[in-house]
Amino acid sequence: MATKTIGHWIDGKVHAGVPRAGEELRHGDVFNPATGEVQAQVAFATAGVVDEAVESAARAAQTWRAVSIAKRTKILFAFRQLVDKHQHELARVLTLEHGKVTGDALAEVNRGLEVIEFACGIADLTKGEYSENVSTEVDSYSIRQPLGVVAGITPFNFPAMVPMWMYPIAIACGNTFVLKPSERDPSCANFCAQLLADAGLPPGVFNVVHGDKVAVDRLLEHPKVAAISFVGSTPIARYIYETGTRHGKRVQALGGAKNHMIVLPDADMELAADAAVSAGYGSAGERCMAISVLVAVGSAADKLVPLMKERIAKLKVGDGLEASSEMGPLITKVHRDKVAGYVDRGVAEGADLVVDGRALSVAGRPNGFFLGPTLFDRVQPNMAIYQDEIFGPVLSMTRVGTYNEAIALVNGNPYANGVALFTNDGGAARKFQHEIEVGMVGINVPIPVPMAYYSFGGWKASLFGDLHIHGRDGVHFYTRTKAVTSRWPDPRHRGVNLGFPQNR
Ligand code: NAD
Repeated sequence: MATKTIGHWIDGKVHAGVPRAGEELRHGDVFNPATGEVQAQVAFATAGVVDEAVESAARAAQTWRAVSIAKRTKILFAFRQLVDKHQHELARVLTLEHGKVTGDALAEVNRGLEVIEFACGIADLTKGEYSENVSTEVDSYSIRQPLGVVAGITPFNFPAMVPMWMYPIAIACGNTFVLKPSERDPSCANFCAQLLADAGLPPGVFNVVHGDKVAVDRLLEHPKVAAISFVGSTPIARYIYETGTRHGKRVQALGGAKNHMIVLPDADMELAADAAVSAGYGSAGERCMAISVLVAVGSAADKLVPLMKERIAKLKVGDGLEASSEMGPLITKVHRDKVAGYVDRGVAEGADLVVDGRALSVAGRPNGFFLGPTLFDRVQPNMAIYQDEIFGPVLSMTRVGTYNEAIALVNGNPYANGVALFTNDGGAARKFQHEIEVGMVGINVPIPVPMAYYSFGGWKASLFGDLHIHGRDGVHFYTRTKAVTSRWPDPRHRGVNLGFPQNR
């Protein structure tokens, strides 16, 4: 039985949404993935509710852009302190709706905190340039200004961190924000909205609308939304990019992934097996930077398989709130069954099933959306388990003969989010970082998520748009530059001149 309704956060208040004439109020179920129970209902915004949030953000934008950098920064520092103080509560909210284990939820909050800390340095990041005397007594300078109302649309798998890639920087730059988080784990957004309000953020600067395509489509079309940041699957990212840009908006849309980890025969195999198991099954494989394909070069495969089996056998799968759990459930039953369906398909297509997670049961949690870690060997590139983003605890090993075959395989894949190489050969590593066509590269690091002061983003079908998220790209995405040329009146400047201004 649902016990509560999660409302929108608009103009500093939570409310369930008032439909306009002809609009229908809808709700979605929010599950506890570990028990399979519906624990809440979330309000789905109508177009009218989205308009209300955008209007609130547009009103707030008039004053927020004029608030001094010092005051904006002070609020961000206060928010940083509050997130840090409440990180265990926030992690619990995450685990209850997403299912990830407590340690992973805390790590997510901490990666988000790093972006808030980066945004606290906004004074330095938005500095312009100044040139004196570009012509006689004429000065020229550039300033960075906010865009106005910007929106973020985010996926289920990092309900705290991914929105934090966006709104701390957007707000620090002087924009106001409307967040449309995933309808599957919506509570974290409201929790953070309350912390922002407690930190002193004025009403309307940060708003949350919950819901589905109806809410997203209204944000994409709304004339007062200047820019959209999106993170989610590739088909929706492409749709968001095409629709948003058609409506004249600046858009960055990060999509899905199929991340490879190449292991050369000279690598430390114990280290590589640890890394593959951690990066393949952490957060039940529901990370956009999870390793999903292990590319074993030459003799590496025969060494890796037994080491992997040994490690997988020891993994503890259970309710994310239990201290002993290392891997939790998947987000929904539908998704769990879809991932299990890929295991069936891999078997039917002839891959070797080395570890089968389909029969796993978790004591005391018979209805949870669990699937055990699964390992395939001898996966061929034409199989669905190689081609599709599975987004679950299913790792495929592909055997290749040479380094060049491994590079060709990765560079031939339509996705290009993350990649890793395991080797002890510095020359091979250097060649790899030069040749590989992927946005985020790890050398003996399986999940190479850049720090907040670098930017995060893949290439090819993993990102639509020009700018990556957070870091300097984030600041550039949420600001536009203006170049000013100024001359102060002096009688010597009098006189009509129809020539084009020139500076020599
Ligand atoms: P999703 O694409 O289903 O949903 C993302 C957002 O889009 C949600 O807010 C959802 O409500 C909305 N949405 C869904 N369908 C829509 C539609 N038809 N029209 C308009 N909006 C729609 O993604 P998900 O299942 O929540 O998250 C998992 C996906 O996100 C994976 O593909 C994963 O790789 C990707 N992801 C990518 C990154 C990255 O940085 N590249 C990071 C995290 C997750």
